[in-house]
Amino acid sequence: MEAKQKPASSTSHSPIYQAIVQAGSHLKPLQRVHAHMVVSGLHHNRPLLTKLLTLACIAGSINYSRLLFFTVPNPDSFLFSSFIKASSKSGFSLDSIFFYHRMRLAQLSLSNFTFTSVIKACADLSALKLGSVVHCHALVSGFDSDCFTQAALVTLYAKSGDLVTARKVFDKMPERTIIAWNAMISGYEQNGLAKEGVELFYKMREAAMIEPDSATLVSVLSACSQLGNLSLGQWVNDYIVDNGLDVNVILGTSLINMYARCGDVQRARKVFDGMLERNVISWTAMISGYGMHGYGTQAINLFQKMRTNGPWPNDVTFVAVLSACGHAGLVSEGIKAFACMEQDYGLVPREEHHVCIVDMLGRAGFLEEALQFITESIHGEPSPAVWTALLGACKMHKDFDLGVEVAEHLLALEPENPSHYVLLSNIYALAGRMDRVEMVRNVMIRKGLKKQTGYSLIELNQITHMFRMGDVLHPQTAEIYRYLEELVWKMREVGYQPETESVMHELEEEEREYALRFHSEKLAIAFGLMNSGSGTLIRIVKNLRMCSDCHLAIKFISVVSCREIIVRDKHRFHHFKEGSCSCQDYW
Ligand code: ZN
Ligand code: ZN
Repeated sequence: MEAKQKPASSTSHSPIYQAIVQAGSHLKPLQRVHAHMVVSGLHHNRPLLTKLLTLACIAGSINYSRLLFFTVPNPDSFLFSSFIKASSKSGFSLDSIFFYHRMRLAQLSLSNFTFTSVIKACADLSALKLGSVVHCHALVSGFDSDCFTQAALVTLYAKSGDLVTARKVFDKMPERTIIAWNAMISGYEQNGLAKEGVELFYKMREAAMIEPDSATLVSVLSACSQLGNLSLGQWVNDYIVDNGLDVNVILGTSLINMYARCGDVQRARKVFDGMLERNVISWTAMISGYGMHGYGTQAINLFQKMRTNGPWPNDVTFVAVLSACGHAGLVSEGIKAFACMEQDYGLVPREEHHVCIVDMLGRAGFLEEALQFITESIHGEPSPAVWTALLGACKMHKDFDLGVEVAEHLLALEPENPSHYVLLSNIYALAGRMDRVEMVRNVMIRKGLKKQTGYSLIELNQITHMFRMGDVLHPQTAEIYRYLEELVWKMREVGYQPETESVMHELEEEEREYALRFHSEKLAIAFGLMNSGSGTLIRIVKNLRMCSDCHLAIKFISVVSCREIIVRDKHRFHHFKEGSCSCQDYW
């Protein structure tokens, strides 16, 4: 337990001691008493200095506390621990670690609260190696079974991305604190393991020993956003309402993000409108939500409202506005927003803004203007991302000569990036230069470059199912493939013709060796249709851009199955309904 040592009772009755107590944890009054001590020659009195230092630590002034510390003759374990705790709490992590080291050198006894503070300091610095050394010290000193030390260790390992060790410590905890649960859940969520994060949250609910707090809910909402898990997200929202929890800015913004990213932009707006306090992040989340769904006008309207009576927009807001304009083809609005960025707000455009402008101009068919923007308006060497945006536009508008030029330029800029080879090979294929396609592929194989594999997620009865292309791992595989065959047959009856030719060359989406019909999103949709009642909305999350055949196929699926299907791909949402898509084939 905590090492505590009380000052000698004779001192505690002295008027100076009383004056320190009266000053409390307020820096200025403490410094006044300190001055008085110096004048009266009491500035080496240990009990007085100890009390003064403890209160200065609570006041949060680490610089002053550090100065004081060095005036104490032979500081004891309690004093060291107080200072280590205070510095760790105030974010002076290096101080914590340095004083811990000195404490060990002085062979003073360590306590659970020293370990908790030092481990927290290591976690804040993501100093995994140092943290595991402290973990060893805790083991040797017998504090590794203390629940506060354990919670700090879970935080350390989870924050540093070592989730396996974090989980090992977590599983061994006889009593799990809310800090440990939160650290583990957010560790999963922030390291791309949202599914594991959600599973652990269900475990937390099952254990029912501890109620989630707002930090838990923020992590869970972010995991829901990543997985497109609307039902759990909604549950969190209901939980907040039922328990009368305060929807602060962070929680509210998490809800907006969750609803927008799970495809329910109306609910996102409802949360936004209901928030008592909104900051620039909440406004930006809402604008970006509209943009993802192709609601450009709504995004612009909200941005105008923000300009007149909202918080000052930041550069991320402008990324959201410009990308919303791009996805909705609102070119003049986008140009206007881009102009006001520097003029009205003094924000210097970054790479992301340049990409948005090139993408917006390019999508709308202004290839010349986009090229002109790159060469004339960007200071310095334009980034590969800017050229990639132009290349996408060349592909969309079938300007293969410019496309080849851009792709070759990109490859020269970043010769080790596999996606550039894929793009170049695509554009050669589209331009009908098959010899070049072969050549690029051979280079890729020789260099051992691999592209990202695609997957799609669908959530059913609180379980997220993942499908990869040509997947045979799912327990319902046989039924899914049979169902999909039948579905394709029905689709063909109403006019669906697979876009084999063009798609065969779109190498970045999925391996072209596999039949088009087994792309992951089709498997996920077939699975969703089979396992849900008529009229149920199907929601899919895909990690890459959809290929044009899948896009066409899903339009037909929405007709033959009489279902509404929402697909979130790498860049935006597609709402498929009665044979058409909200992106207007523009993605
Ligand atoms: Zn596809
Ligand atoms: Zn679409």
